[in-house]
Amino acid sequence: MLLTVTLNPSIDRSYYVEGFNKNGVYRTKYEKITSGGKGLNVSRVLKKLDMDVMATGFLGGKSGEYIKDELDRLSIINDFVNIDGETRNCIAILSDDGSHTEILEKGPVITEEYFYLFLKKFENILEQNSDIKFVSVSGSIPQGLKDNVYKRLIMYSNKFDIKIILDSSGEYLKNGIEAKPFLIKPNLDEINSLLNKNLNQKNFIEEIENLELENIIVSLGEDGAIAKLKNNFYRIMIPKINVINPVGSGDSMIAGFMIGYEKDYDDIRLLKFATACGMSNAITKTTGDIDLNFLKDIINKIEIKNV
Ligand code: ATP
Repeated sequence: MLLTVTLNPSIDRSYYVEGFNKNGVYRTKYEKITSGGKGLNVSRVLKKLDMDVMATGFLGGKSGEYIKDELDRLSIINDFVNIDGETRNCIAILSDDGSHTEILEKGPVITEEYFYLFLKKFENILEQNSDIKFVSVSGSIPQGLKDNVYKRLIMYSNKFDIKIILDSSGEYLKNGIEAKPFLIKPNLDEINSLLNKNLNQKNFIEEIENLELENIIVSLGEDGAIAKLKNNFYRIMIPKINVINPVGSGDSMIAGFMIGYEKDYDDIRLLKFATACGMSNAITKTTGDIDLNFLKDIINKIEIKNV
């Protein structure tokens, strides 16, 4: 069983319009509504690949009920803390010129009391499900909680020898890595902001070594990724593909990594599988979804070399 933590989930509404510009009125060509927040994207991809997955975090109000119903429908086991506030909505506007605009609600304020309930739940889930060995914690932290929340979860999990993947940004990532998560997966902007540098793809290998973390994947969108797994560095090169919606590709990559690691894949197979999951999300309309046929095909076209 794999566990995902989404502290600030959302209903994600993706609107596809032609010629999007500010100040206009647009009718959608089509729209997609999904239960979002990075952790729930990870959960959906894990489930699509037939893994047993449990999701936790905070849910509230009618939007929270909608997300719970969605998770039930997808047979994703869910155990969230119910809060008084309303779970947020996030809007993505995708246009035919390839532009991509996002509007993200802040979401509800989480009180210390609710956070305490969440910690108790997190502990209970881990204690009662001894088969959970891998946890992903992703995304932003809701209003009201301290920046060191992820650090606390990682410290707790480390005590039980449970591996945590941290996928976040800014202060949450900076704080979280102090507790030594098993893997972080920043993109180029996130790693640059963490290191306070403006590095390009070629010159940050030395810098990520200095972070003294066991595993790091820096995802580079259409340029593939660079990975450090234990003491080995890899450059992952990918072919050009017809991208439809790249949102959630990083989340899909994490799902792929969790599966590959659970199945004991060697480094190359693991990285190919994780990268193929990211790419496979980019060619689907839905955020946090993958095309299984594309996945099987593209995996053989990914090249990895030691650097
Ligand atoms: P998100 O936060 O939306 O989940 P991210 O910024 O964390 O995404 P990306 O670097 O965009 O993650 O993507 C992760 C992986 O998905 C990349 O390493 C790549 O393999 C694949 N991918 C993403 N965008 C593209 C693209 N435009 N073309 C090909 N592959 C892509």
